[in-house]
Amino acid sequence: MENCIFCQIAQKKLQAQIRYEDQQVIAFDDVNPKMPVHILVIPKKHIESVNKIAEEDTKVVGQLILAAAKLAKQLKIEAQGYRLIFNQGQHAGQVVNHIHLHLVGGQRLGPMV
Ligand code: AMP
Repeated sequence: MENCIFCQIAQKKLQAQIRYEDQQVIAFDDVNPKMPVHILVIPKKHIESVNKIAEEDTKVVGQLILAAAKLAKQLKIEAQGYRLIFNQGQHAGQVVNHIHLHLVGGQRLGPMV
């Protein structure tokens, strides 16, 4: 999608600190980190949100989780723990309409629910 900032990052038209990349997935530092580790893992394919995941997207959504786990290992936070978050829609505070998995950690996280 032309005016999607995460598509632009995936296409290297917009700069980001890229942490991981393969054919389907790219991960980069969140520009406004809320934790010592805050990385966004996205599919290169434009999928608007969790609500818009189609049957054909289930593989790439799994790949997002695997990429996040690999990054957590690389960053040596896998033993202490981390959190993976998809924000869906207004109430969850989703502001970028290209599905993204937040990988956050590097310190103790408060309870979510
Ligand atoms: P969400 O609230 O789940 O939509 O999260 C969107 C995230 O994208 C926020 O944490 C922003 O800080 C982050 N973000 C927005 N623009 C950029 C960008 N150009 N590069 C990296 N992260 C970004």
